[in-house]
Amino acid sequence: MATITRRKFIDLTKSAILGGAAVAGASALMSGSARSANSDADADKNDTRGEWVIPSYCDVCFMGCGINVTVKNGRAIKIEGNPAHPISRGKLCPRGTGGLGQLYDPDRLKTPLMRTSDNQFKAVSWQEALDHVAGKMKSIMAAHGPESMALLKHGKGADPFERLWHAIGSETEGHPSYAQCRGARDLGWSLTFGKGPGGVERVALDKAQVVAFIGGHLGENMHNVTVQDYTTGLRNGASHIVVDPRFSTAASKAKHWLPIRPGTDIALLLAWTHVLIYEELYNREFIETYATGFDELKAHVEKTTPEWAAPYTGLKARDIRQTARELGAAIPHSLLFPGRRFAWYGDDTQRARAMAIINALLGAWGSESGIFLGDRIKVPGFPYPESHVKAKHAIEDKEKYPLGTSTPVQDIIDATIPGRFKGATQNAPVKGWLVYSTNLVRAVPNPDLIAEAVQHLDLMVVVETMPAEITGYADIVLPDTTYLERYDVMNAPEWREPFVSIRQPVVKPLYQSKPSWWIAKQLAERLGLGEHFNYVNFSEVIDYQLKQMGSSIKDINQKGGVLKKAFEQPEMKFRTPSGKVELFSKTLAKAGFDPMPQFIHHPQPPDNYFRLLYGRTPQHTFSRTSNNAMLLELFPENAVWVNTDIARIYGLKDGQPVVLKNGQGVKSNPVKVRVTKRIRQDCVYMAHGFGRSDQRLTRSYKVGADDNGLLSEYELDPIMGSTGSQVNFVTFV
Ligand code: SF4
Repeated sequence: MATITRRKFIDLTKSAILGGAAVAGASALMSGSARSANSDADADKNDTRGEWVIPSYCDVCFMGCGINVTVKNGRAIKIEGNPAHPISRGKLCPRGTGGLGQLYDPDRLKTPLMRTSDNQFKAVSWQEALDHVAGKMKSIMAAHGPESMALLKHGKGADPFERLWHAIGSETEGHPSYAQCRGARDLGWSLTFGKGPGGVERVALDKAQVVAFIGGHLGENMHNVTVQDYTTGLRNGASHIVVDPRFSTAASKAKHWLPIRPGTDIALLLAWTHVLIYEELYNREFIETYATGFDELKAHVEKTTPEWAAPYTGLKARDIRQTARELGAAIPHSLLFPGRRFAWYGDDTQRARAMAIINALLGAWGSESGIFLGDRIKVPGFPYPESHVKAKHAIEDKEKYPLGTSTPVQDIIDATIPGRFKGATQNAPVKGWLVYSTNLVRAVPNPDLIAEAVQHLDLMVVVETMPAEITGYADIVLPDTTYLERYDVMNAPEWREPFVSIRQPVVKPLYQSKPSWWIAKQLAERLGLGEHFNYVNFSEVIDYQLKQMGSSIKDINQKGGVLKKAFEQPEMKFRTPSGKVELFSKTLAKAGFDPMPQFIHHPQPPDNYFRLLYGRTPQHTFSRTSNNAMLLELFPENAVWVNTDIARIYGLKDGQPVVLKNGQGVKSNPVKVRVTKRIRQDCVYMAHGFGRSDQRLTRSYKVGADDNGLLSEYELDPIMGSTGSQVNFVTFV
């Protein structure tokens, strides 16, 4: 880590919280002997007598599965899938049922904390914390403009802070999920089809007969409804092609495993495109009806044969040809799975384009057994007042990323460090951060840069439920409620059964935690912008919106927490400039980029180094769950996968702890070796989210290793700024 001077990382067990009374009070609350009063709780449902089942929706990952929470004598005792909910269908993944471990984690943040002049945290009252934050915001905005305040956020709970930013007149916002996860994918698909495959992907894995996965490791990546459809498809005899340097769980269920050399996926995709077109295996009717640019695409892939791709990818030409033929033969029941966590090598938008183009050739878009078209319930707005200020952005990245749809967090980090953001009108125009529910140092590559950036901030506020590592860099830490203790905006994704579901408190907030809407509203009032939060309790917003739909909170609860409407088949429409599926993108060409995907040679690991791959386990989400007692019991620590032959050369034994070091000399915690034939020789692999470095996380501190800490390097996607991080090489110390 970079040397921290002014804003020293605070590790609370090393530097005990000042103000013991607050800590003593917190432990009394933990025992259940008292609870804080909070306006967010619904008194009727939280009657401390009797047993209740309260519907809501999960927040352990983004899927938003419907849950039923059993509450007995004021304590939540069980979380089950809501059978009435189209995304969970009565089932949950292990993380969903393990949500109680998050609610009742004794390591939770319990009280507002303020950094002292000697780099300690002292427990303070909400009033003192909020007055301090609002006072600092006022002086920063007066000196540098409202846009100098940046909001870094994740999840539905961020909505009230977005409202606050709208009210102050700042558009300086970023969410790591854009540059790390879906941004490049959605842009690549939008350039092709006019829209992306959806937050909850509209993929008919239950009906498709042949599916290709490029690196997506479903089964380990436990997205509930997607995995349910995936297993249904397998049971129905679907045939899968898994392209992955690692023999993942999905690979073990597949007909074909293609252990590709990392960095060469576009070569494979171009070769598949060649076979589909030149062997006339594409969906001619779909292409002739809906697509434009076919002739250019045909000429573009004339020479990208399987034989051309084989030496780059390390795959056999006959396997490339055979798998393309199987995809083509199953038209219109075949597709390429869109995947997530898409930022790999810096040409990610183009990889998404290559995948979208193949889906177009298969005619998968709009197919009931492909990428189906969804319908949604439109949630009416709440009569919030208009903001009279014209919102500004601290950085002009439209020139840098003309096709970008959001601000990469990396740009906000750069714009906080003097001299680092190129093209900014001011030097380091970002002066304050409010970080909501994202552990940036575990979510964004090159965490050293974050440690450097916070040194230049005039204000750093973190709103969190847990003492995540990012809280150690804060001036003020505000304890957030978990999703089981608050109302949030409703969930109404595009899906084949259109629905809306509510999130509501099932128990009163524990300790002194407060919901994000309450914190944002309190800050707005202190900033003289209280009229932008024209409600007393966020339940009023939900109730108002439901009433516009002919329902209410009471009514939706009687209906199991979900409202549905009949599916209306949407028209096959493409919101591209041509109104067609764009195989050749004039938009890309006009912006100076390749109109069709090109294969780029990416560096391969030098001698004695191995590419670091990372991924998921079914029991954990990011670093968010790695201190959850219920989930740790199921998956206690990560290990580093090392190919059997490599382990022999380095004398590594199964279970032996090893330290990894990357090309910049950054070392990991000791992590156990898993010797396996299930990975290529040039790669190692780790599940993400372990190796926690804050001692306040009593169960997960120093358990396993942190992959993100080894991601010192990243490749920026020139089209939209995603931070490709599968470009780091490690060796064994
Ligand atoms: S997939 Fe699992 S963690 Fe994600 S929302 Fe559903 S139940 Fe929760």
